[in-house]
Amino acid sequence: MTRMNMKKMQIKKIIVGPIETNCYLVVSGNELAVIDPGDEADRIISGIQDLGKVNYKYILLTHGHFDHVMAVNELKGKYGFKVIVGEKDTDIQSLNAQIRIETEAILPDVTVKEGDELELGEEKIGVFATPGHTKGSVCYKISQNLFSGDTLFHRSHGRTDLPGGSDEEMGKSLDKLLKLDENIKVYPGHSNETTIKAERENYA
Ligand SMILES: [Zn+2]
Repeated sequence: MTRMNMKKMQIKKIIVGPIETNCYLVVSGNELAVIDPGDEADRIISGIQDLGKVNYKYILLTHGHFDHVMAVNELKGKYGFKVIVGEKDTDIQSLNAQIRIETEAILPDVTVKEGDELELGEEKIGVFATPGHTKGSVCYKISQNLFSGDTLFHRSHGRTDLPGGSDEEMGKSLDKLLKLDENIKVYPGHSNETTIKAERENYA
């Protein structure tokens, strides 16, 4: 039997920008995904450099709001990541123009929808479409970890009053997420981590 030297999945959080967005670096089997590089590219780059030698695979966007995307172009230019976004949030510039924020054009390479799967090292990345905060909001599940963007927060959920938001859709999206395995750890777009179990009790 070959003994494989498999490294455990690593997750590192870097809080960036004026709205304190959680940017996550996720490494599995030497492949790196950056989730929501919202601002402060220099700090994210130094976090990436601390990881040592990895393959720069994906930038995964939970949605297109400016506070989740402002470092995308710089990181993509430097490392060549493929940028992934939900199919209904692809026009990032106009999404932000609707809330009177000017951003550069950010061009996704791959759009995803409910049920899509990507690969990161040893793991699969599962995609859940979770509209409610924006039309194209998605959550990514990697192993027993859910990156929930501005959909599910610790003891709360994302706002629904911005263009494309919907209370009704948010309710359905939360129902869908709260049916997942209770042991899944949740990494939101802002504030602290939580678990499906804790949030199910919160919404019960
Ligand atoms: Zn947002």
